[in-house]
Amino acid sequence: MEYGRVLERAAGAARQVSGTGRVAAYIPALAGADPAAFGIALATATDPASVHGADDWRTPFSIQSISKVFTLALVLATDGDTLWQRVGKEPSGSPFNSLAQLEREGGVPRNPFVNAGALVVTDRLQTLTGDASGALREFLRAESGNPAIDFDARVAVSEHRHGHRNAALAHLLADHGKLANPVRTVLRHYVKQCAITMTCRDLALAACLLARHGIRADGTRLLTRSEAKRINAVMLVGGTYDAAGDVAHRVGLPAKSGVSGGILAVVPGRCGLCVWGPALDTHGNSVAGIAALDAFTTLTGWSVF
Ligand code: GLN
Repeated sequence: MEYGRVLERAAGAARQVSGTGRVAAYIPALAGADPAAFGIALATATDPASVHGADDWRTPFSIQSISKVFTLALVLATDGDTLWQRVGKEPSGSPFNSLAQLEREGGVPRNPFVNAGALVVTDRLQTLTGDASGALREFLRAESGNPAIDFDARVAVSEHRHGHRNAALAHLLADHGKLANPVRTVLRHYVKQCAITMTCRDLALAACLLARHGIRADGTRLLTRSEAKRINAVMLVGGTYDAAGDVAHRVGLPAKSGVSGGILAVVPGRCGLCVWGPALDTHGNSVAGIAALDAFTTLTGWSVF
C-alpha cells in the first residue's frame, strides 16, 4: 500500500468540504481554531509501527472526547466485565451531553462515550490510580512515544468556567449514587483529560493499541483480544454519538470523535488512523474528518464489514 498517496487523496476529499460546518464555541478556548485546518495520519499496527501523514498532521490540538477511548481501556484492563454494570454499551441516539436521557434511565449512562458515561469511567480510573488524568497522560506519552504530551491549562480553565452541563451531569450521577469520588474531583480530572494536547501523528500511534488487539507499544498486553474487540464495537455504535449509524454507513470503522475536530479510527489488525479538522457537523463530528475517512476506506477497501 502506498500510504502517502492514499492519505493525499483522502486529504483532497477533506479539502472539497472546506467551508462546511462550524467550530465548537461552547468551550471558548476552542472557538479560535482555524476551520480550514486539516491533518491525517496513519500508523501501521506492525512492529515497529511506521507513521505516515498529510497536511497538518503534526499540529497539536485538544483531544477532547478522544480521551474517552483510553480512559475506558485503562479501566477495562483492571475491572474487566464488571465495568459494564455501571455503564451501558448501547447507541445513545441523543446528544452527547443529554441530561434527560441520564435521568430517564436512572443514572446508568448509555455508553462510555457520552459525557455521563465518560464521567463514570473517569470516576473509576480516579479510584484505581488516585490521579486519573495524570495516569492517562503517562499512558498516552508511552503509546505515542512522545514524552512532551501535556495538558493545555488554558483549555481546561475555559471548560471549567463554562462546563455547566457536565457539572449538572456529574451531580445527577452523584444523586443516583453512581460516583465514588467527589463531584469536583471527577470533573477536574475529566476536564483535564479532555484538555490533553496531541497531534494526528501521536493519536494514530496510540490507536494502534486497538489495531494490535490490546497490545501496547512496548509489546506488553494491556487488554485481552476480546476486550479490545469490545472497545472497537462500542466505538462503532457510540463513538460518533447520534451520527454513529451514518458514520458506520459511510466509513465502516470504529471511530471516536472530539469537539475540537479530531477523529480517531481503527482498522483492526492493520493500522490506527487520526484525522483532524475543527469545523463540525450538527452532531459534533468533524466534517472534513468524516469526508477523509470516507475516502480512505473507499480507496483502500479497508473496513470492518
Ligand atoms: N470536553 C468536552 C465536553 O465535555 C468533550 C465533548 C466532546 O469532545 N464531544 O463537552
